[in-house]
Amino acid sequence: MRHDSRQNDQLRPIKVQRRYTKATPGSILISAGDTVVLCTASLEDSVPPWKKYDETPSGWVTAEYNMLPGSTSPRKRRKPDGRSSEIQRLIGRSLRAVVDFAALGPRTITVDCDVLQADGGTRTLSITGGFLALLDTVLAIPETCQLAEGEIFDPKKVFSDSVAAVSVGVVSGEPVLDLDYIEDSTAGVDMNVVMTGSSDFVEVQGTAEGQTFNRGMLDAQLELATLGIKQLTKIQRECFGADWPL
Ligand code: UDP
Repeated sequence: MRHDSRQNDQLRPIKVQRRYTKATPGSILISAGDTVVLCTASLEDSVPPWKKYDETPSGWVTAEYNMLPGSTSPRKRRKPDGRSSEIQRLIGRSLRAVVDFAALGPRTITVDCDVLQADGGTRTLSITGGFLALLDTVLAIPETCQLAEGEIFDPKKVFSDSVAAVSVGVVSGEPVLDLDYIEDSTAGVDMNVVMTGSSDFVEVQGTAEGQTFNRGMLDAQLELATLGIKQLTKIQRECFGADWPL
């Protein structure tokens, strides 16, 4: 039995609030148990300098991640650290895996993931919520952007699939889904799995702490992650209802 009485294959309760703040077209407040992340996505009608010379004008998606000082105890200092850089690069790669940059056109979308409360799984929740913020921003392009002459912008063409992420691990010798901080800090194996809505892998990060794990245990964790991502994808879809373009 897990310390919070969950089954091994059970996610924490997930809540998603769309259009949480007003300043950006994409704004998603997402929580998994006590982990809470605000994901906003902002659009610019320009591309980074290294993209300007592309033969076909195409866009870019990037991400920033931050844990707010009061999101944990002791307080997290505001200065950037290696962990945050690593996490924001993971978020950016995960989101870019499902985006067609030519269909996006010469625009840049920055997805900001700010952790309001940290209780394990902040990077995976940032990806699951960040995708929704990105989706809302792309859906808003026809109303909020000056389209190029003759441009027919189709948000459906921008995404090949949806993307979501979840943590899995081995706690007290058992494979478990969606670790909170108590589990994360005692886990013998800790993995972060990023997958598309059609259950293809985007990225798998897995580390054993002071032990090893065999192929069977790896497969059992990937099985749990697949199950978790299916549920997260369903929640993402339900949140968007008729607006879901995929
Ligand atoms: N954590 C913290 N302060 C830090 C880093 C991590 O309190 O500077 C806690 C936080 O609850 C976080 C958990 O440790 O969610 C696990 O951190 P990890 O680096 O494994 O990333 P995450 O699971 O959040 O993606």
